[in-house]
Amino acid sequence: MYTCNTERMIDKIAAFSKFGDAGRGGITRFSLSPEDHLARNEFATRMEKIGAAIECDDMANIYATLPGSDPAAKRIAMASHSDSVQNGGNYDGILGVISAMEVLETIASEKIPHRHPLTAMIWTNEEGSLFPPAMMSSGVITGRFDKEKMLASKSRLDQGITFGAVLEASPWMGAATNRLSAEKYEAMFELHIEQGPILEEAGAEIGVVTCVLGMVNYRIRTFGQADHAGTTPMKNRKDALFAAAKVLTYLHEKLDRLDPALVYTTGEIKCHPCIHTVIPDEVDFSLDARHENPEVIQKVIEVIEGIPAEIAGCKTGHERSWARDTVYFDSDLVGMVKTAADSLSIKNRYINSGAGHDAQFVCGMMPTTMIFVPSKDGHSHCEPEYTSPEECTAGASVLLNAVLAADAHY
Ligand SMILES: [Zn+2]
Repeated sequence: MYTCNTERMIDKIAAFSKFGDAGRGGITRFSLSPEDHLARNEFATRMEKIGAAIECDDMANIYATLPGSDPAAKRIAMASHSDSVQNGGNYDGILGVISAMEVLETIASEKIPHRHPLTAMIWTNEEGSLFPPAMMSSGVITGRFDKEKMLASKSRLDQGITFGAVLEASPWMGAATNRLSAEKYEAMFELHIEQGPILEEAGAEIGVVTCVLGMVNYRIRTFGQADHAGTTPMKNRKDALFAAAKVLTYLHEKLDRLDPALVYTTGEIKCHPCIHTVIPDEVDFSLDARHENPEVIQKVIEVIEGIPAEIAGCKTGHERSWARDTVYFDSDLVGMVKTAADSLSIKNRYINSGAGHDAQFVCGMMPTTMIFVPSKDGHSHCEPEYTSPEECTAGASVLLNAVLAADAHY
């Protein structure tokens, strides 16, 4: 078994934490921003130093490839993203990139033999922080998103700027022939922070990820009557916001009885007319529910379909926005990650991903899997995001040995 180098990991984590440093322990690094440009440069410079060849594709995804002993063999990729949310942490995404770099650095410095070319990769615009949607370029490359529509995506901060214009101006845009594809690549691994508390609570250093949870998304509405806040007696009101509160309580009571592993969220609410002197006449809120088992998701749908047609004098309505099935990772690769962690005597457990990642799109194209490392106090998408250098290195070591197992397997 081979292990990665903690000092080298610390050095890379510190180096990348500077690019977009927001001064409060975290970063703001939107994809293809000047800060991201610095991070990409650092990646390319360090990878060229160990003899990796740098390529970019038409979505500005970057590939750093170390040749293997068999030039005809397909590549094995390790990938994650270099962009962050506004005031995000130093680990989400970039740790997967740093770990992929560390694997190649270890292989180069210890001259570890391998047959397949091995590629460390950066995905463009995973977060969709400035240009929605999230997982934009993996969506394009795997044929889920229409490229022209993505190029037309407008900046959340300046509606005059499109993603296409930023991409065009970027030095990282290359040829479509460089894209990750099933013809050129055998498999893909993505190491990522857990972004939740499960590993830490279990005292595990590695999460062997088996799937990305299926989910369903609804818009739920209540319809009342707008009236004057001062002149309408309480008994005469049809308050759509009060009705929405009742619907939410109804949903929580029913959904909490379904399954302890079910997670659901109302994160968005629109209240009309949203004026403090007017009784609301229409409220529209989201419900996002996630679970591995489609039967549980079906029960969630039944609960939503069962919302009474009238609550607190207001009519209710609901509409499914979208849904996706649970995405299961490749069982061979999952086994390689598990064996690597066990062989290194690193405490691990199986885990699913409640969050979306580029790997879930790639999974439909080639064997793919993920490795999780713990997130301190479960925090992510915020500045306190933290994973210790030892845990980061343990993750990189598991990635290294799993990749070498894949190299021997294919
Ligand atoms: Zn991420």
